[in-house]
Parts: sequence; C-alpha cells; structure tokens
Amino acid sequence: MKKLVIACGLALSFNAFASGHWGYSGEEGPEHWAELSPEFSACHAQNQSPVNLTGAIKASMAPFKLSYKAGAKDMVNNGHTLQVDYAPGSFLEIDGIRFELKQFHFHTPSENLIEGQSFPMEIHFVHASEKGEITVLAVMVKEGKENPTLAALWKEMPKEGAQIDYQQSVNAQALLPKGRHYYRFNGSLTTPPCTEGVRWLVLKDPIAASKAQIASFEKTMGHPNSRPVQPINARDVLKD
Ligand SMILES: [Zn+2]
Repeated sequence: MKKLVIACGLALSFNAFASGHWGYSGEEGPEHWAELSPEFSACHAQNQSPVNLTGAIKASMAPFKLSYKAGAKDMVNNGHTLQVDYAPGSFLEIDGIRFELKQFHFHTPSENLIEGQSFPMEIHFVHASEKGEITVLAVMVKEGKENPTLAALWKEMPKEGAQIDYQQSVNAQALLPKGRHYYRFNGSLTTPPCTEGVRWLVLKDPIAASKAQIASFEKTMGHPNSRPVQPINARDVLKD
C-alpha cells in the first residue's frame, strides 16, 4: 500500500485524506489550491499560513518545553518535500498541552518571512496532541557552515515516491538553534487541505547549512516548495 503523506499535516488526525493533485506552480499551484478539490476549500480561508512575521506584539509568553529523544526513523520523498518520520516518545509542551513530534520536513525557500526577510530554507517540526490538535515549530536555515545533522540525515536522498530507513536514529533537537525566542500566531497547514487551527511557533534564530546542502535539497525536489505568504487579516503575531 502506498504510504499517504501530507507535507505539513497529519492526514489521520484530521481525517481529511488529501486525494487531489496539487503542486507549486501552474494550474495546480498555490493560487488554485482551493479550487482543486472541495477538501481544499480552507486554502481560501482567513487564517492561513505562512505569513510575514512583522509588527509582532511583545507578550509574556511562557517558554515552550521540549523533550525530544533520538527518533528519526525514515525519510520519504512525497514529491512535495522530504519528510522525516519520527518514532513515538518526543514531545513539545505549550498551553499545558503535550504535543508529540510526528515528523519534520523542509521547504525551500522559507515559507514564513521574518520582517520581510526570506531564508534559503525552513524546517517544520510537526506535532500533534492526543486530540489531534497541531503545533508546528519552525526553524529558519541560513547559508553558512555545513550542518552535520543534515549531513547525517541527507547522506542519501530518496527519489520521488521512495523511502529510506535510517540505521541510526538522529535527535531532531540537533536541528534547533540555542536561542529559543519565538514568534507565535494561529495559522494553518501550508499545504492542502490547508486545515486551520494550527499553533505556529517560529524560532527567531536561524540555524546554518552549507550552500551545497541547500542546493542538493533543491535539486532533489526539482522545484521550489514554498507557499507564498498569506494575508494576516485579523490575527496578531506575538513575540516573547
Ligand atoms: Zn511545512
């Protein structure tokens, strides 16, 4: 059976199996997602991601708590991204709710912008609560030194539709910057079905990857895989 994967979401917890084809350009591109399938109608809703993080309101937000274990078990190329699936037992806690890390994946260029600035890459760590609520922790990637964790994860990149299993598990925590200041806003999955009600935490500090690493991800995807920024509408962006 073909494994069903959605770049920025968890099909099972939403019970919204995204069956339609979609892409990042042309007639299947982001401006047409809402018309491609009735299941994708949320892509035209009011609280969509990504956004330009600007005009953030300083708020006394409690730090989120992370307890990640080594758990990267396999990587799938679903045609939209490279997704690293994670073994159970790693958590992010915020608002008194425990969210389990399910997978993380990559976008090039970044989807969210920080004060209008784009980064060459953005990593999304996707977590789900027992009730199926979603929290995405996002980390920007700037060009710099080679990233040893990405080097380990990307030793081999699967072709579209393929999966590689890791012999040795990697801890996703190694892909986070030391600084934990963050922006917070309410948003959506950035891929169809664009489901809303997602808690977004975007770390202010980027991590680094080499030019060659970023280029090899771009080459494997064969196209940019970023949704353009969406209107903020009535939402506030908070910062700590
Ligand atoms: Zn994503």
